Amino acid sequence: MEQREIICTTCPMGCHVTVTMEDGKILDVKGNTCPRGDAYARQEVTDPRRVITTTIGLTDGNVLPVKSDNAVSKNRIPEFMQKIHHVAVKPPVQIGDVLIPDIDGEGNNIVATQNATA
Ligand code: SF4
Repeated sequence: MEQREIICTTCPMGCHVTVTMEDGKILDVKGNTCPRGDAYARQEVTDPRRVITTTIGLTDGNVLPVKSDNAVSKNRIPEFMQKIHHVAVKPPVQIGDVLIPDIDGEGNNIVATQNATA
């Protein structure tokens, strides 16, 4: 039996949640104040997810801040970073423009978080 301690980041309460597992199977979740913490902890121990924030190259040699529009699989972030760093985007770019659609095959996109003028 294995126990994982997780801090729920879904809201500012930051509840300490304990997940009990055996052979990769979740047996129990304790310490969450609400059901969102249960869902967060189960996701965190099976397929943790994070929003990517980084920069992407522009064809004029500058870089532009970007992020994923949703949390993506944390375990695959190195793969996504490689994809992002092999792209050069031609300005102009507007905040919110999708620069790499469906980076993970799950419909999550890399979007601009700043404007870039031509
Ligand atoms: S368990 Fe519920 S109350 Fe606690 S941090 Fe998570 S979302 Fe907030």
